Amino acid sequence: QAREVQPEATEADAAEATLRPQHLEAFVGQQELRANLQVFIEAARSRGEALDHVLFFGPPGLGKTTLAQIVARELGVNFRHTSGPVIAKPGDLAAILTNLQPHDVLFIDEIHRLSPQVEEILYPAMEDFQLDLVIGEGPSARSVRIDLPPFTLVGATTRSGLITNPLRERFGIPLRLEFYTPAELERIVRRSGELLGATMTADGAAEVARRSRGTPRVAGRLLRRVRDFAAVEGAAEIDGAVADRALRRLQVDSQGLDSMDHRYLRCLAETYTGGPAGVETMAAALSEQRDVLEDVIEPYLIQQGLVQRTPRGRLLTGAGYKHMGLAPPGDAAP
Ligand code: ADP
Repeated sequence: QAREVQPEATEADAAEATLRPQHLEAFVGQQELRANLQVFIEAARSRGEALDHVLFFGPPGLGKTTLAQIVARELGVNFRHTSGPVIAKPGDLAAILTNLQPHDVLFIDEIHRLSPQVEEILYPAMEDFQLDLVIGEGPSARSVRIDLPPFTLVGATTRSGLITNPLRERFGIPLRLEFYTPAELERIVRRSGELLGATMTADGAAEVARRSRGTPRVAGRLLRRVRDFAAVEGAAEIDGAVADRALRRLQVDSQGLDSMDHRYLRCLAETYTGGPAGVETMAAALSEQRDVLEDVIEPYLIQQGLVQRTPRGRLLTGAGYKHMGLAPPGDAAP
């Protein structure tokens, strides 16, 4: 089902393109990552070489695609965009690679979903800029080697542990994205508000920021919905009260959790008496895919200290009980 706080991109997010920062300087947050990237880009540029391969990892909606585009723009090279599941055969990848210009950026989103056969031909391409292809079948099959222009592969994945070791080792620059702080998100919301022509008070921006799960994509989406509510209410500006009313109507709570998060927390509290509960068990109980729990729902609940991931399974913390308005088992009144 559609979630307003869903951090993965949906078709309705096509409008996102207008909100994307175009340069590293306009990119808010991820300070350390940005500083490092700046150094590597400048060094590659001054040496006149292709930038080393970059791997971005972190939950959806934190800016991996945006950063990949910025890298290409800062390097002054072309940006080619594809994704793991789209590259079905080695030949598909070969077609993309042989069409690159020297120093181009090739962005592969969801790189953990490449098939093993495709991944296999990516290794020499990344390492030696060479493509080894087998042409034909059976006894007449022969292998050919094609030289590629030096290029930069930018991969994106939700968790670095999802990709195979040989692939991970071929990225010279692995960079992890973190959830944004409310203050950073507030700057993003104000900037997006200006781009969308929405008049907001500082309170209004702070309210949307606080309830956006540390995720710019969610902030952009909530902002658009809040703007709709404000227009229908005839509110001249989006202040804290307008934002709060709209977000309540969207069932986004004070900490940015929605009904899916509540189901998760309630299941852990009530069905599994606070845990530990294994992720497979939770996925089955909630009729959700394990990946969705691990990549989309849990990271924010864990970051907020509501849930803990332990070797024996998921545990609901004291803060988790409190957020749900429930008493932890030990606290039960006699
Ligand atoms: P990912 O590839 O990690 O899923 P995207 O790069 O597609 O995320 O970003 C999702 C949305 O959030 C885009 O609209 C983008 O403009 C916005 N966004 C992401 N990071 C930032 C940021 N640091 N500052 C402003 N907007 C951002």
